[in-house]
Amino acid sequence: MKLGLFGGTFNPVHFGHLRAAQELAELLKLDRIVFIPAATPPHKTPSGIVSFEHRLQMLQLAVAGNDVFSLSDVENRRPGKSYSIDTVRYFRNAGDSGLECFFITGQDAFDAITTWHDWKNLLRLCHFVVMTRPGYENRGLHQILPPDVAGRYVYDAAGDVFQQPHGGSIFFRQTTFLDISSSEVRKRMQQGRSLRYLTPDSVIRYMEANRLYR
Ligand code: ATP
Ligand code: MG
Repeated sequence: MKLGLFGGTFNPVHFGHLRAAQELAELLKLDRIVFIPAATPPHKTPSGIVSFEHRLQMLQLAVAGNDVFSLSDVENRRPGKSYSIDTVRYFRNAGDSGLECFFITGQDAFDAITTWHDWKNLLRLCHFVVMTRPGYENRGLHQILPPDVAGRYVYDAAGDVFQQPHGGSIFFRQTTFLDISSSEVRKRMQQGRSLRYLTPDSVIRYMEANRLYR
């Protein structure tokens, strides 16, 4: 079982997230991708973030009808900041021994990996899939990780993957990059401009019905 874990604020989810996840499922033959909204994102200020419940509802609407996509509210069931390592531990404990977890992030998020809580153990516990943008050259692990950590990884050309002897691998994968951000969606919503084709219609209807981001 190969499980993709896609964490984010998803304030709100948009087609950039959905398309990238779809392509990664195909590229890495993931059996499932779980979208995991952060309850209390450690790296973001809470202002402007709508409630967990709203973000979860919008994700529910967005993933409906896709057999590979699902979502989890696990981060809302833990007190305090939402640390990815706790989430990975949760899924590992819940799954059987054959479970492999692939933590999905954007390049911007992965560039800051050494600021994440307990990041060294996180890199041991699961694989990382870094979605790269066209034109954004993979800067290489040596630019991102401290030398002692980066030095443990060996690049395997056949699998196009960085591997470490005891722990997770790191895959840099280029996905179709739709230049959409949640910030842009929120801004347009506030300005009363159209959101069509930026996020699913069901999500647009939900935002309108609940007067979100006004
Ligand atoms: P914001 O504008 O509020 O920062 P966002 O659009 O970046 O929101 P997040 O919830 O912060 O969305 O992102 C969750 C994850 O999705 C991150 O790993 C981020 O790098 C990635 N991501 C964000 N936008 C895109 C996109 N257009 N295509 C692919 N991945 C994306
Ligand atoms: Mg972002």
